[in-house]
Amino acid sequence: MADRKKPEVRFKKNCIFCKKNIEIDYKDVDLLSKFLSSKKKILSRRSSGNCAKHQRKLAKEIKRARFLSLLPYLLK
Ligand SMILES: [Zn+2]
Repeated sequence: MADRKKPEVRFKKNCIFCKKNIEIDYKDVDLLSKFLSSKKKILSRRSSGNCAKHQRKLAKEIKRARFLSLLPYLLK
């Protein structure tokens, strides 16, 4: 019988902000838009691979950019 109990680490920490040591900035629209889905929703941590700290920061900066109309709100 195969032992399938082994926990599989599907996605390791894959946070580009940690890796490349980038500061998230609301003015960096190109960067921020990489973390938006086709409907301009903020990608979940699972799909973006960011760590909790940077995901939180990212969401904050995206919201700020939206407020300043650098990024669009949800598309219909
Ligand atoms: Zn990070």
